[in-house]
Amino acid sequence: MDVAQLAANWIAVRRRVDEACRAAGRDPAAVTILPVSKTFGVDTIRAAMAVGLRRFGENKVQEVRNKAGALAGEPVEWVVIGHLQTNKAKDVARLASEVQSLDRLELAQILDRRLQLEGRSLDVLVQVKTAREDTKSGLPGEALPAFLHQLRAYPTLRVRGLMTLATLSEEMDEVRACFRTLRELRDSCVAEGHELPRLSMGMSSDFALAIAEGATEVRIGTAIFGSRSYT
Ligand SMILES: *Cc1c(COP(=O)(O)O)cnc(C)c1O
Repeated sequence: MDVAQLAANWIAVRRRVDEACRAAGRDPAAVTILPVSKTFGVDTIRAAMAVGLRRFGENKVQEVRNKAGALAGEPVEWVVIGHLQTNKAKDVARLASEVQSLDRLELAQILDRRLQLEGRSLDVLVQVKTAREDTKSGLPGEALPAFLHQLRAYPTLRVRGLMTLATLSEEMDEVRACFRTLRELRDSCVAEGHELPRLSMGMSSDFALAIAEGATEVRIGTAIFGSRSYT
């Protein structure tokens, strides 16, 4: 995709996000867009950089490695949004600016150790499972308060909020219920003294519902970069 097409897509998505904010009575400045560049190559990332984008969501660490290698020295920030195996923690600690898929204590421990070795810290969001499907990863909501408490032992992990993937359903009510669940969990944890300013929820097909339920960040792939091919 060329720069002009990407710029047009970006402007159109930003406009739709702004409209969703206004429809929900929210300030558009309160919702950021994370462009999700997974499966797209370095040429696409370069085109997106020409449009002014800097942060990119990726779900595979191997892909971050390849792209970061090809773009070494460029002002790009990699945001990990996919399920993370602990054997990838070393690369994440080296390359990522943020992880939105923190979902278990073992991963926190290993990331913290690797980050200490790198002398770095990382913004993290805790991924919570709000969908019924077995395939969706994430911490069970009822385990969140204890988990947030345990994360205080890992100073390299700056916990900034929560992330979720809604159920894959045609039923808007079911999708919206996932987003509402995340917001309510956030509110109850904030009432217990945790600082969780960020809610990452909503993708190309459901971001308006997520914004209506309080998303502060929507993760958009297809609507910016086009449909993915996994060949
Ligand atoms: C791929 C992906 C997205 C973006 O999905 P689109 O439907 O292409 O906008 C958002 N969040 C996560 C975790 C993803 O893996």
